Amino acid sequence: MDVILRHANLPDGRKDVDIGIEGDRIVALAPALAANAPEEFDARGLLVSPPFVDAHFHMDATLSYGLPRVNASGTLLEGIALWGELKPLLTQDALVERALKYCDWAVAKGLLAIRSHVDVCDPRLLAVEALLHVKRKVAPYLDLQLVAFPQDGVLRSEGALDHLRRALDLGVEVVGGIPHFERTMADGAESVRLLCELAAQRGLRVDMHCDETDDPLSRHIETLAFHTQRLGLHGRVNGSHLTSMHSMDNYYVSKLIPLIKEAGVSAVANPLINITIQGRHDTYPKRRGMTRVPELLAAGVPVAFGHDCVMDPWYSLGSADMLEVAHMGLHVAQMTGQTAMRACFEAVTTTPAAILGLQHYGIAPGCHADLVLLDAADPVEAIRLRAARLLVMRRGKIIARSQPARAQLSLTGRPSSVDYRL
Ligand SMILES: [Zn+2]
Repeated sequence: MDVILRHANLPDGRKDVDIGIEGDRIVALAPALAANAPEEFDARGLLVSPPFVDAHFHMDATLSYGLPRVNASGTLLEGIALWGELKPLLTQDALVERALKYCDWAVAKGLLAIRSHVDVCDPRLLAVEALLHVKRKVAPYLDLQLVAFPQDGVLRSEGALDHLRRALDLGVEVVGGIPHFERTMADGAESVRLLCELAAQRGLRVDMHCDETDDPLSRHIETLAFHTQRLGLHGRVNGSHLTSMHSMDNYYVSKLIPLIKEAGVSAVANPLINITIQGRHDTYPKRRGMTRVPELLAAGVPVAFGHDCVMDPWYSLGSADMLEVAHMGLHVAQMTGQTAMRACFEAVTTTPAAILGLQHYGIAPGCHADLVLLDAADPVEAIRLRAARLLVMRRGKIIARSQPARAQLSLTGRPSSVDYRL
């Protein structure tokens, strides 16, 4: 064995486990492994998790905050308009530079797989080419999966379907869509049909921005589930946002959720973005706008939490920290029970890994030796503290380290550091 991590707690509750690594794989997992390795680490009862995974991001827009101006209303529609103003000004070099900077932030936070939408409503496909370049460049340390996303509507924006097809030809691997932004409900439904058929023909996955609105009558998720079922795309289709479900009539939802489950469609909520962008037309009471996460989970629908945006036309904050995303998701969905809090940790690790279709992900013999040592004893404490990533390992090699977060007190007679762990 090349590396052994001793005395680790695992996200599933197992304690004091040793993890043996050979080359780029985990080869052994047991209490007190009777072996030695040239490199050994003592986890001291801290949590060792598989890496964080972000199932929903926009890497072509990230770190562009303030370019060319700031979103004054804070709404989705002004954000889309603002992105439209920025698009003609984008250069490939600047885009690559921002994306690579974000990937550095991600790695430092133990976020080693990202599904990013890339806007294809641009005849030059500038962002597509830039992110394909970034994908190759970061491959040794981060899995970047790209979604061909027709931001301005595949039917509403002239030539968008052709551009989207070209993006897929170039190597973008997931089909995106935005039915609620098409001109009519009928066009929205038509866009879902044709994009699902395109994915079926090419054997690709689907991930649509779906019903990102407070309009309870926006029901494109029903159409998405229908075509997933009809085309046999079970397990390969994801509905992102689904915020209209927050405002829907309960009776209708009682029919809808079983249809989503039956079709094998997964869901991604984006709590930081949903809580800031939705409900902007409300006075009081003001809707939260996040989809019905506990109810979907209870029905057996996989639900992940995505970061969606970091410092871009839609969101001015964010730091690639998926524990911050889980923390917000937990609060907005009121998922405060022990099992529910652990589900919030799964929503930024194992669940999005399955949605992306990542191979050899997890902590078990045969899996990639991709691990994060957190300064917390368990997943709930990790979320509570947004715990420091003491070590980040990719394929058996350490690629990032952080110091434990400790407040240094200068008061005489007090401890010189404070430990917030229990
Ligand atoms: Zn998005």
